[in-house]
Amino acid sequence: MIDTRSASKRGIGMTSARTRDRLVRRLKDNGIRSSAVLEQIRNVPRHLFVDEALASRAYEDTALPIGHGQTISQPWVVARMTEALLDGFEGQRVLEIGTGCGYQTAVLAPLVKEIFTVERIPELLRKTKQRLRDLDIYNVRFRLGDGWQGWPKYGPYDGIIVAAAADELPQKLLEQLAPNGRLIMPVGPPGRQRLIMVKRLPEHFEEVSLGAVSFVPLVKGM
Ligand code: SAH
Repeated sequence: MIDTRSASKRGIGMTSARTRDRLVRRLKDNGIRSSAVLEQIRNVPRHLFVDEALASRAYEDTALPIGHGQTISQPWVVARMTEALLDGFEGQRVLEIGTGCGYQTAVLAPLVKEIFTVERIPELLRKTKQRLRDLDIYNVRFRLGDGWQGWPKYGPYDGIIVAAAADELPQKLLEQLAPNGRLIMPVGPPGRQRLIMVKRLPEHFEEVSLGAVSFVPLVKGM
């Protein structure tokens, strides 16, 4: 008997291994080095994170709409952020702001101990909880809330990853960063955003730019 649930989990019939290999090759050509991250891009069935009508485009290296005016991040961006977060990472706990459809969460989940993820749109959060459960991902805690506030209860975090752009680094997120922790987030106005990595050193925060990106805005408040 065919187990359709696990077949769809593995993406059989939807997308071939060849399509996924092509995406992985493209990310490699565009500078993604981490084999653990590339392996995750190959494994995570991205077509299950978008509407069925868009499933055939799920392994293109582009952002796609997920409803509510939001998008699933471009695979290259997810790979770059994950790689930057995990490079030399010794910690275990990660705060994610902007859960969306949960693609970034799913890529990161097997590579860290625990993810605490915050989203402000209830409908997206509800669907994503179910989706990650269906994919047997259990090391994620979800919160409906305003990402500008972080999630103090479980902080400080060894890593913080933000999937929406702001003009400035949210002070509350910097405060919730553990010593030697790092925060990865897009900063700047539309059209001029850069992906920034901030490291918390003993005396100060160190900022490095990882290049130009394009994200939806980190909305103020609920
Ligand atoms: N991580 C997703 C991308 C999500 S797009 C992926 O892997 O594809 C950015 C998400 O941030 C949207 O779902 C949006 O609703 C959410 N967001 C925007 N402002 C927010 C805020 N202040 N607090 C929490 N989530 C926010």
